[in-house]
Amino acid sequence: MPTTATESLSDAARKFVEGGPHKLLIGADWMEAADGRTFETVDPSTGEAICEVAQAGAEDVERAAQAARAALEGKWGKMPAAGRSLLINRLADLIEENSEELAQLEALDNGKPVTIAGAVDIPQAVAHLRYYAGWPTKIEGETIPVSWPNMFTYTIKEPVGVCGQIIPWNFPLLMASWKISPALAAGCTLILKPAEQTPLSAIRLGQLAQEAGFPEGVINILTGDGETGAALVDSTSIDKIAFTGSTEVGRRIGARCGELLKRVTLELGGKNPNIILPDADVEAAIKGSFQGIYFNTGQACNAGSRLFVQKDQFDTVVSGLAEAAKKAKVGPGLDTGTQFGPVVSKEQYERVSSYIESGLEQGAEAVAGGNGGGNGDGGGYFINPTLFTGVTDDMKIAREEIFGPVLVAMPYDDLDEVARRANDTDYGLAAGIWTRDVANAHNLARKLKAGSVYINGWGMVDAAAPFGGYKASGIGREMGHANLDAYLEVKTVWTSLK
Ligand code: NAP
Ligand code: MG
Repeated sequence: MPTTATESLSDAARKFVEGGPHKLLIGADWMEAADGRTFETVDPSTGEAICEVAQAGAEDVERAAQAARAALEGKWGKMPAAGRSLLINRLADLIEENSEELAQLEALDNGKPVTIAGAVDIPQAVAHLRYYAGWPTKIEGETIPVSWPNMFTYTIKEPVGVCGQIIPWNFPLLMASWKISPALAAGCTLILKPAEQTPLSAIRLGQLAQEAGFPEGVINILTGDGETGAALVDSTSIDKIAFTGSTEVGRRIGARCGELLKRVTLELGGKNPNIILPDADVEAAIKGSFQGIYFNTGQACNAGSRLFVQKDQFDTVVSGLAEAAKKAKVGPGLDTGTQFGPVVSKEQYERVSSYIESGLEQGAEAVAGGNGGGNGDGGGYFINPTLFTGVTDDMKIAREEIFGPVLVAMPYDDLDEVARRANDTDYGLAAGIWTRDVANAHNLARKLKAGSVYINGWGMVDAAAPFGGYKASGIGREMGHANLDAYLEVKTVWTSLK
């Protein structure tokens, strides 16, 4: 059912939304869930339902896995590598051609500013596909100089097979692109499960994949909830799981994949330290740190959520950040004047609000925000950018991933101390350093236990550069050659020449 927000949608986006209830893409067909279940996706800027979407169950997972297996053994498996490149590029072109509609669907379903979706999410999704579109013709084996006489030994790389890909709601289309691009480049087939909060752009992606001409069964789209995700993980018809989401669910998925000896990659949470050194360009550090935490309303696994500032500069940095936070334009995603949208759901609103309350209860001071923001009941799920001082390392808000617009700022004395405190976390996804001193920058970068270290910037991402976590932030890497390898098996072939 259309909501009031759909009035500002383009004809294309409105037509898509009104085309619901949306179905599952299994093989060549869009079909209802086997048991007929559906769920509503909600606009977090209003709290109103957007449309109905099919809720896939275990039976649908098996049907999709069969379609994906047939494609692997059929047309897709037999297609020359260059053919895969062509199709991936065609899909990238179609996303680009439909970028306005896709940006609007993201803004409607996720709440993110339509301007950001149009400038970041959609072009980055395209860039990711284009990077991996270059790979199929470069996947090479090796000849191995073994010690056996009269032996010819070589390796070939083969696709892992049918992949179950489970993604979160924070960057819906972009996360879909991060997952499908390397899988398709490697020659795998896949079943994509978007988050229940944000299914729309994945459904549109499925339509565009059909238009691009992918053979049936290569890309299957199953909307649903955690139960659908668990059915993918449990299915013995699926060879690999790729997951992005919470560390809690990631642990469970990793354990189950271990039992089944299914390939698995996990991109999980973070509580990322952002360190401003005394010799930093303070103005740049304030600007970068502000975006580093509040971008996407703080709903990013690599958000710079723990800020460390040398004690002599602490007040300057905190007042600069607080001033910017108070001026921030928080509003509906489809409003082009919005800088930060709502959080994605009522559940997330309550979760983030409870962290803010816990900070206040434990004695921290909110120098910006801290009031929870808008109305979690009935209206949109708005939370103002919040900045806490008076925080100790053991407080819940300093230890747990909040995944909302909440920053904790803490003073430090010297470099050894800050390196130790920065690493004192279960997570290890990202870390940042602001300094003009090259030696300080690289010495500290070596000490930080994180998959990405940003120096004088925050959150830089490129399809060619590996991204992923140490410790509880995950297993494996997204992007680059590393993620291609995660979709390939190595086969060693021995030939006696006697
Ligand atoms: P989540 O539960 O980990 O969800 C991520 C994805 O996994 C969704 O598609 C979800 O489906 C699916 N899922 C849930 N339970 C599953 C299970 N048992 N087996 C297989 N798949 C399952 O995350 P969330 O509940 O949406 O968010 C909670 C917290 O996770 C956030 O506050 C944040 O701390 C963290 N998070 C991290 C990232 C990241 O990028 N690393 C992204 C999102 C959230 P449904 O959503 O449809 O239930
Ligand atoms: Mg939604």
